[in-house]
Amino acid sequence: MTNECKPILNSSTLIIENGDYIVLNQKEFGYQLKLKKEFQQFLSLMDGSRTIEQLQDEYIKYFGRTISVDALEEFIRERLSKCGFIEGYEKLKPRNSQSILKAKIIILETGILEKIYTRHLNFIFETKMFYSLLFTLFSANLVVFLTHKSVYLNTKSGFVFSILFICHIFHEIGHAMAAKAKQSSPGNIGFGFYFVLPVFFVDLSDTWNIQKKDRIIINLSGIFFDYLIGLGFGLLFFITTNSLFLMIQIILFTKTFYNLNPFIRSDAYWVISDSLDKPNLNDNSSIEVRLFFKRLITFKTNNNWKPNIPLLIYGIATTCFWLFIIQSILIQSKTIITDINEFLYALKQVLFFNNWDVSVIISKAYQILFISFALYLLFKLLAKWAFLLHQKLVVLWKRA
Ligand SMILES: [Zn+2]
Repeated sequence: MTNECKPILNSSTLIIENGDYIVLNQKEFGYQLKLKKEFQQFLSLMDGSRTIEQLQDEYIKYFGRTISVDALEEFIRERLSKCGFIEGYEKLKPRNSQSILKAKIIILETGILEKIYTRHLNFIFETKMFYSLLFTLFSANLVVFLTHKSVYLNTKSGFVFSILFICHIFHEIGHAMAAKAKQSSPGNIGFGFYFVLPVFFVDLSDTWNIQKKDRIIINLSGIFFDYLIGLGFGLLFFITTNSLFLMIQIILFTKTFYNLNPFIRSDAYWVISDSLDKPNLNDNSSIEVRLFFKRLITFKTNNNWKPNIPLLIYGIATTCFWLFIIQSILIQSKTIITDINEFLYALKQVLFFNNWDVSVIISKAYQILFISFALYLLFKLLAKWAFLLHQKLVVLWKRA
């Protein structure tokens, strides 16, 4: 963006007021940005009639503090333009997690949930009650888990698999019920594929205008339901002594730790996003890390920019997490040749010797698919970085 550019607020940007803040909601691409309420009027000045320099004058007039053209341009480019709040930014990809899901199937329609939910359940989602119950349920599950964790896990059982599938739906119902208790209207519950990974989802796009503490409760309600159902299966095991029930309890309980990993788009991710008041936590934190290192390398001091420490820590932690994942992928990928060999051998057994042990074929095929996909993403990322670096160098070279 050059300084002659006259920014225009995109017409599909919705501004929602929420206490001292406003939330910009880019419906089309699914981006959200939270700003102090004082920005509302300033944003309305971006109507295509003012250049960045003119906006700088307005900024100084409006807020009574100075901002450099560079800092303002950076704000418009990094925070507004990249999220599609400002018109004319090309090649923007949709960020709404639901829109990148493939082969979506709606399992439960909003209407059914509206009918089964009764406001008599609201008390469960009151702050004190909710956290006390959550803690109690967690402890009870932990006790069952710790005392029986050596049980043999037969994950191939079709029965266990079907029950777990239904439990996933209850997890989403948990989020939806909490949203209902907090006077918001949750959307459909469904199932889809995020690349090769099967995922369940509930449309909670309506929850942005409710209080922070209530949004955190909605985020944690899926796990709350996992613990509740897990405990139910634990009790069934104690009554019937059927180890299948115990197995379901253990799988459900261990699965919640995956939901509590804040570095993937899990429930914990949204808890952090809401606690820090940062929608698009991933984008915002990576921008923060980039700006921090950029300033560190160039020794550029800008009085208008001070790092958001929690965001910076989260961003650095996320980077470390993904570096660790990349390292594990590379270690894993060393066995891909053996995996392919074993897969072909198992396939040959099935085709020519009528030996129908397909479980090896399926597990090997999934492993190969997963590693190739991870490697593909890794190369794509490297290619993107190389491209950006190349562009930067071209600009520098032209200037010189
Ligand atoms: Zn969840």
